[in-house]
Amino acid sequence: MTKKYSVRIDKKWCKGCEICVVLCPVDILFIGDDRKVDVSDEDKCIGCLQCEYHCPDFAIFINPKEES
Ligand code: SF4
Ligand code: SF4
Repeated sequence: MTKKYSVRIDKKWCKGCEICVVLCPVDILFIGDDRKVDVSDEDKCIGCLQCEYHCPDFAIFINPKEES
């Protein structure tokens, strides 16, 4: 079974810089109408952590989901 990850965004800190959008290898992050980042399909996240490592504002967090 493929491991799943939760993608949590702290909209209070996100400034919509798009760094994570550009870095995400599976292209699931986008800038929404509120000019903050959002996730389109969390189930496609591969947990590479590029977004979390490179976010200058510590606004995005990836956590493995419990296997069910
Ligand atoms: S890198 Fe951080 S601040 Fe920039 S859009 Fe992504 S979550 Fe928001
Ligand atoms: S951990 Fe990787 S695959 Fe998941 S949202 Fe962040 S950049 Fe995309």
